Amino acid sequence: MTKNNRLTAPHREGIPVVTLIPGDGVGPEVISAALEVIKATGVKIDWDRQAAGAGALKRFGNPVPDELIKSLTRTGVALKGPLETRVGVGYRSINVFLRKTFDLYANLRPTLSFKGVHTPFRNVDLIVVRENTEDLYSGIEHEVAPGVVESIKVITARASRRIAKFAFEYARANHRKSVTAIHKANIMKLSDGLFLKCARAVARGYPEIRYQEQIVDAACMRLVTAPSSFDILLLENLYGDIVSDLCAGLVGGLGLVPGANYGDKGAIFEAVHGTAPDIAGKGLANPIAAILSGAMLLDYLSRPAAASKIRAATGAVLRSGRVLTRDLGGKASTIEMTAAVIRALVRKPA
Ligand code: NAD
Repeated sequence: MTKNNRLTAPHREGIPVVTLIPGDGVGPEVISAALEVIKATGVKIDWDRQAAGAGALKRFGNPVPDELIKSLTRTGVALKGPLETRVGVGYRSINVFLRKTFDLYANLRPTLSFKGVHTPFRNVDLIVVRENTEDLYSGIEHEVAPGVVESIKVITARASRRIAKFAFEYARANHRKSVTAIHKANIMKLSDGLFLKCARAVARGYPEIRYQEQIVDAACMRLVTAPSSFDILLLENLYGDIVSDLCAGLVGGLGLVPGANYGDKGAIFEAVHGTAPDIAGKGLANPIAAILSGAMLLDYLSRPAAASKIRAATGAVLRSGRVLTRDLGGKASTIEMTAAVIRALVRKPA
């Protein structure tokens, strides 16, 4: 996160007020894990719990209740579980709606290797910076004639410049070495061409940070063969979505990677993963991604010591390999893994 987009959440009696969206599927299970771990750090947060998504549709007849929008407008900051979006039918993605409504234009997904999690690569340390408001997610789709449909990809100079600036500011503030813009401008010469043009112009203002470009298909191949040749990845919305999951695979899966959506006036913290319908309600979900999203929230609320404690505790649990959920080859439940993180956290003074 850059200093520029840190914002002070409103406080009630000295305690920050944060909107809490448990979400659908595994959301309530992993969000409850994150809450317990945050509580164990001693940081007090006044959670304003709100329903959204499929759960809200069932209960209130609306996947985006007015109360949710009012809460987010009031607090400007949320911890959120995943929300269900049905494939091909049904309402449009509430995630996309919230990111656009609150202009949370920068999706930041730090993807790190953990000792104890066995993958073909060690020391993966990638930061995915994904533009969050436009591209093929514009939602402009129509049927031109029966059997012929069009989806419109929207790329603007304004959004491309500000996401590139976010990536370079992040690089500067966090002493990162390089930013790689990932594109398909050999085919989409105008749209991806504009994205690159803006990234190049922004890069000129950061001479200490190496700027590189790579076509998305070649970048995917290089990511799965030599991930350490990348540092910060700068991507449009759709490539960013796909490449995020690819990067998660490099470090052990979706259960491990946290994320944040930042705007100039607020932020929503959420894991990269979705509702995981195949394991929802079974107590099997890996809570680490949600817990680490909670750590990103604590950084945002200017509680960096508590955030570091959480990172150290999750690192210790993964390293020891004794209490792991099934996605990591263990047998532990969500609750058991959360308890292990809390034990490690309580053992470790800040
Ligand atoms: P998914 O991320 O839910 O699941 C993909 C695979 O990863 C599944 O096998 C799942 O079991 C596994 N997985 C995910 N999270 C895990 C965890 N914490 N622990 C262990 N395993 C985990 O992706 P999907 O199946 O493509 O999508 C399901 C739903 O989630 C869809 O409705 C989609 O739109 C939604 N979704 C929401 C968000 C969001 O709210 N930010 C993000 C992605 C997908």
